[in-house]
Formats: sequence, structure tokens, C-alpha cells
Amino acid sequence: MRVGTGYDIHRTVEGRKLVLGGVEIPAPFGLDGHSDADCLSHAIADSILGALGLPDIGYYFPNTDPSIEGINSQEIIRKSVSLATERGYGVGNVDCTLVAEKPKIMPYLEPMRATLADSLGVDPSFVGVKATTNEKTDEIGQGLAIAAHAVCLLVPTSE
Ligand SMILES: [Zn+2]
Repeated sequence: MRVGTGYDIHRTVEGRKLVLGGVEIPAPFGLDGHSDADCLSHAIADSILGALGLPDIGYYFPNTDPSIEGINSQEIIRKSVSLATERGYGVGNVDCTLVAEKPKIMPYLEPMRATLADSLGVDPSFVGVKATTNEKTDEIGQGLAIAAHAVCLLVPTSE
């Protein structure tokens, strides 16, 4: 078995959609980035790549590539899973934590879990999605950014 961790942070900006865990969340701001800036999905993809000992998503999806501008980050997760599949591994389980001061994330946790499970190719019971705030401390606590942590277990698909 292999385990990997992932972390990502994006600045909040006006005039963009807020997409977290593949779910569009109504908010007066979104996250800045080359893709859809879904930091939760990026952290998960990085946890898979990390478990495989591969470079991070910036290597596979460089922000200088105009062909992937605005890309749906579920595609980034699917690509990471296919890199695992090619190497004889499947996703065992994923757990992740979103750190966001606002908006209220709780109503969207289950839709995120279902969307992420679909992209990961596993039953939703193998995906944990949690959300917390930074209690108004630091930049995240002041709403200037949203961050995410993820951990992933990969299991051999053969034998
Ligand atoms: Zn990112």
C-alpha cells in the first residue's frame, strides 16, 4: 500500500465562480487560478501523485499551458487516478479537510463527497470531506484565501 498527502491554497477574488470539491457554491467571490482553482480537488490529486512518488499537479497541468485554462479539476483527479491505475494501484480511501472562513460549506459536503467519489472511481463511503475555519486568525481566517489538506491511501489492484 502507499499513502500520500496533499495541500493547496488559492486566493479569493471577486468575479470568479467558487468551485470546491467539484461543486459550484454560491458566493460573492471565487478562487484565483489558471484552472477552476478548486483547491480541495488539487490537494486530493496531489495526495494521489505523492503516494505514487510522482511530481505534483503543477508538473502535469502547468499554469502556463493555455489549453488547460479554466479546466474542470475533476479532470485533474481523473488523470491522477489513471496514473495510479497504470502503475497497478487503485484508490483505497481519501480523507480531506477544507479550511475556509466563508461561505458556509456544510450544505455542500455531501454533494462534494459524491462528486469526488465519482472522479476517484470509488464508493462515497471511501471519501471523507470535512470543513473547518481558521477562527478568524491569519489570511484564511480573514477570508483572503481558502486552503485544503488531503490524504490518500492507494492499494494494489492485482494479486
Ligand atoms: Zn491549486
